[in-house]
Amino acid sequence: MGRPIHATIDLAAFRHNYLLARQLAGPGRTTLAVVKADAYGHGLLPCARAIADVVDGFALLDIEEAQCLREAGFKQPIVLLEGFFRGAEVAQVARLNLSPVIHSWHQVEALSHAEPAIPMTVYLKVNTGMNRLGFAMVEVASALSRLGALPGVGEIILMTHFADADGESGIACQLDRFSRLPGQGALRSSVANSATLLRFANEVGDVVRPGIMLYGASPMPALASADDLGLWPVMSLASEVIATQDLLPGAAIGYGATFVADRPLRLGVVACGYADGYPRHAPTGTPIVVGGMRTRTLGRVSMDMLACDLTDLPNVGVGTPVVLWGPGLPADEVASAAGTISYELFCARAPRVPVSWVGPGSEA
Ligand SMILES: *Cc1c(COP(=O)(O)O)cnc(C)c1O
Repeated sequence: MGRPIHATIDLAAFRHNYLLARQLAGPGRTTLAVVKADAYGHGLLPCARAIADVVDGFALLDIEEAQCLREAGFKQPIVLLEGFFRGAEVAQVARLNLSPVIHSWHQVEALSHAEPAIPMTVYLKVNTGMNRLGFAMVEVASALSRLGALPGVGEIILMTHFADADGESGIACQLDRFSRLPGQGALRSSVANSATLLRFANEVGDVVRPGIMLYGASPMPALASADDLGLWPVMSLASEVIATQDLLPGAAIGYGATFVADRPLRLGVVACGYADGYPRHAPTGTPIVVGGMRTRTLGRVSMDMLACDLTDLPNVGVGTPVVLWGPGLPADEVASAAGTISYELFCARAPRVPVSWVGPGSEA
């Protein structure tokens, strides 16, 4: 057994969320499951296997992760969201039949030396306002003609990424720029992350790229909760109370003594800290579920422990189960209390936290 902290990944929920994304995208569209960063901390292969019979394709960053999918027998398209980083990688990209995003001239140059057995599908990434990766609007015509002339290049898909699909300004301005690009109409397009798919269902292009929604969190928790959106939580992070303390008024809790009891108070110490991936910035008052009941954290999160308020939970003691996030306590709520987003909580799950996968494909 050892330390009681563990994470559980509900693959039936993951599959439900993928099917919901595909249904939102609608018929005739390609729904890539974004599984970068080890499937947002949920485990690349178990997640991929849970949707193996329904998934249209995958999107990720590392060639190693793509290779892992190919070796496991996945034949679907795999998009490399940042393309390749060095010309030397092109041969491997071709051999694994991956579809790189092409966002800069050095990649076009490297492709011109490639001789893949099967012409590569490439995603031409255009900077329409995110100002991160992508060709400038004025470069698109020449990038298209250079790529179109290369024997190693098959289909070209026009792609962009929205900066504020989940926010106030939305996608209108970037979408307007995108719609004026050369190649529009003739080429398939890929523009939609989860927020775009959930908020602007008529503007999602041909190939959609949902990530966070597959893991059961909302890309825009201030506008709609995951539950409102019909998403099911996938990861739960659980532990136990390992000690209790009875405090008198005036007693301080934890490093920095940031919380001082103003009345007699019973606290529980939970085996979960920032070295497990719990956000250190979660302040006093962050929601936590102890013995099935909601309460609040107290004081600073330590490396291996955090404290919570048991004053109103009389039947709780050492060994009582604790849910840090999961069903009944959305990761979005914990993230928002800690001033971050669920994406960061999921990706931060530390290797020392054991994981079990339950549901379809977990026995594979
Ligand atoms: C990560 C990523 C996505 C998925 O975004 P979500 O907000 O998790 O849905 C889509 N497109 C690109 C280019 C990405 O890097």
